[in-house]
Amino acid sequence: MRGSAEGHELVAPGNLAGVLEMLAAAPGEWTPIAGGTELMVAHAAGRLAAARLVSLWGIADLRFVDAQRGGIAIGAGTTFADLRAHEVVAAELPLLARAASWIGSVANQSRATVGGNLVNGSPAADSSPALLVYDAEVELISVRGRRRMPYSGFHTGYKRNALAADELLYAVHVPRRFTSHRQYLRKVGTRKAMAISKVALAGTALLGDGEVREIRLAAASLAAFPTRLYRTEDALKGKAVAGDTIRAARSALLAEVMPIDDIRSTAAYRRRVAANLLEEFLLELTQGEATR
Ligand SMILES: Cc1cc2nc3c(=O)[nH]c(=O)nc-3n(C[C@H](O)[C@H](O)[C@H](O)COP(=O)(O)OP(=O)(O)OC[C@H]3O[C@@H](n4cnc5c(N)ncnc54)[C@H](O)[C@@H]3O)c2cc1C
Repeated sequence: MRGSAEGHELVAPGNLAGVLEMLAAAPGEWTPIAGGTELMVAHAAGRLAAARLVSLWGIADLRFVDAQRGGIAIGAGTTFADLRAHEVVAAELPLLARAASWIGSVANQSRATVGGNLVNGSPAADSSPALLVYDAEVELISVRGRRRMPYSGFHTGYKRNALAADELLYAVHVPRRFTSHRQYLRKVGTRKAMAISKVALAGTALLGDGEVREIRLAAASLAAFPTRLYRTEDALKGKAVAGDTIRAARSALLAEVMPIDDIRSTAAYRRRVAANLLEEFLLELTQGEATR
């Protein structure tokens, strides 16, 4: 059944303080709506449960990319078109810039926000693997103040997260220390554009004396929410990347991931492709300097 505007209320205070006051006055009563590319699809399909919506669209305090010496802060209301156009993001966070270019169509990218992508919490969210391997932190805000936490701890279950009922996601903070790392991101979907991932794998790695000094791996569509692959990372740290290590890392990944069968793919396919993507990244580490 298609949705109707009846039964839904939309309020747009137009500034951050006004939104936070509304959330504080009636925690859990109001659902924030940013670009609306998730919520309006749910509405059109007649499955938008939220009766009261408070708009974040057009709030300048949420839409910024601020590159400081210590890190790059990205406001939750920043669109993926904004990210694609940002020179520092392109130069220093190429995986995030690439993920931004994959999200839906160009039209979608001019509405879809980083905050909406993370709070929606799809296991297949495209910005998540890149942010996870860049060690991003999220900043949450309410009238009670602000708090920061590692993005890796933000998702707590399928479409569940650490936000309290009166909080908004305010910003994502990414450290500026990954330019010397080898980087990898690949999304496997039904087609190159306008396709949700069947599997995605991201990686950043620092090699020294032929060994893996640091490695971060993250995946989408391989668990109930986008996750770091810590046990697979452990199988690689301090090791030279060669046949035995690659085989051990593949085994570690297959033991760590928990994909499901759904309309887009099967668990068996996802496991096999994920292991192949990992091997592709590791083989790239043994060759040239290319960043994928
Ligand atoms: C045609 C189409 C193609 C798509 N393709 C892709 C794709 O390839 N990859 C992909 O990852 N996604 C895709 N999406 C999904 C969607 O565009 C993204 O998830 C987008 O980033 C959502 O952002 P939004 O601002 O539109 O979210 P909204 O729809 O406005 O909100 C989504 C959720 O986030 C909450 N929310 C938003 N901002 C905040 C905040 N600051 N604080 C607290 N809660 C907040 C809302 O309450 C809601 O629960 C697609 C969607 C469409 C319609």
